[in-house]
Amino acid sequence: MANIIKVQKGTKDILPQEMNLWYKLEDNARKIFSNAGYGEIRTPIFEATELFARGVGDTTDIVNKEMYTFEKSERSLTLRPENTAGVVRAFIENGMHRLSAPVKLWYKGPMFRYERPQAGRQRQFHQVGVEMFGVQDATADAEVIELAVSYLKSLGLNDLDVEINSLGCPKCREEFKARLKAVLKPYYNDLCEDCQTRYEKNPLRLLDCKVESCKEIFSKPEVKSVIEGDFICEECSQHFNELKSYLDDLKIKYSVNKLLVRGLDYYNRTVFEIKSNNLGSQNAVCGGGRYDSLVENLGGQPTSAIGFAMGMERLYSLLSDTTEHKLDAYVVSTNKSEALKLVKYLRDNNKSADFDFNGKKFTKQMEKASKIAKYAVILGDDEISNNQVSIKNLETSEQIIVPQKDLLEKI
Ligand code: ATP
Ligand code: MG
Repeated sequence: MANIIKVQKGTKDILPQEMNLWYKLEDNARKIFSNAGYGEIRTPIFEATELFARGVGDTTDIVNKEMYTFEKSERSLTLRPENTAGVVRAFIENGMHRLSAPVKLWYKGPMFRYERPQAGRQRQFHQVGVEMFGVQDATADAEVIELAVSYLKSLGLNDLDVEINSLGCPKCREEFKARLKAVLKPYYNDLCEDCQTRYEKNPLRLLDCKVESCKEIFSKPEVKSVIEGDFICEECSQHFNELKSYLDDLKIKYSVNKLLVRGLDYYNRTVFEIKSNNLGSQNAVCGGGRYDSLVENLGGQPTSAIGFAMGMERLYSLLSDTTEHKLDAYVVSTNKSEALKLVKYLRDNNKSADFDFNGKKFTKQMEKASKIAKYAVILGDDEISNNQVSIKNLETSEQIIVPQKDLLEKI
């Protein structure tokens, strides 16, 4: 026997019996986002590597460690690890800055990151997300957070924590970085290797570290007081206060988490994360924030923007499928050609239907019917010659005979 080729580590087949919930994840997204004026965009799965190096940031874990990069015709290409960079590229390339603001887009699809697979963490996974371009006002931040919460609620997810923070603007952030570096200097040698790199290249991201010994350093009083101090400037602070009051108006519960900095380089001002209390350690279902300089950094007109992305596998694992999967009708007949015709008639009339392709014995067909269908539609020789059908309700075992023309209204 030939050896079996297995699915790649960190990837998964999504099987037919899982589809009802995937449809729900997708349908609710389409409904809720398009209601709010977001149009769906589908960008390619692979892009120029440079797009992510510049668009996600080359000090991030994503770009440094997690990308699937390959070469083709001397071009470096990468399977998208996230979709904001691709959407921004498409926004610029399709001249969407000429449309009247805001430009609102949503997407769903597979993303690829070379990470250590574990519960809630795959190498190919799916995200659904939105991006809004052209509004700097905090109403946009509020709408995007509200949209994320509405979507999660539509899925029946309620035990959620919304965390927000403001990273300030490039100006006020510089001062914060300097203060953070100064207070951490004595502890430099105790920081993990990653944090030592972050200290040099992107000190804000130190706060994102999950290593216990680093977390301990960040909770030392003098470090904590820098982290918790209000470093952001007047304008940024006003923007953040406005956001908070809009969220209050919308009755969205949130908490401010000063350690929330998010993994991507391009964020400024608002960042947010939504966690589910029903997941294990990979409990973040949604991450997002404002990225006012990204469009310009990727060669477009200066355009403010904000968005979020959600991990669909993590959402999937929180849902349970309660819908009935049974067919409307299973046609039971030893006359295969009559059965084939009746099945087509049922399907043409929007009833899900199937039959036995091999014309097995009547009792075998009835056994199968009771497993997979709500009704057995029986076509015996008598029924065929009288233009009738017997209909057996497989739940109550009630059976009736009706003229074939009345079949549809009885099932
Ligand atoms: P984490 O801290 O869990 O690594 P992240 O900051 O890398 O998350 P984002 O890039 O913000 O995640 O992606 C948004 C969402 O996508 C996450 O909140 C999570 O739900 C999901 N996600 C990210 N990476 C994976 C993965 N490898 N497998 C499954 N879902 C993922
Ligand atoms: Mg990650």
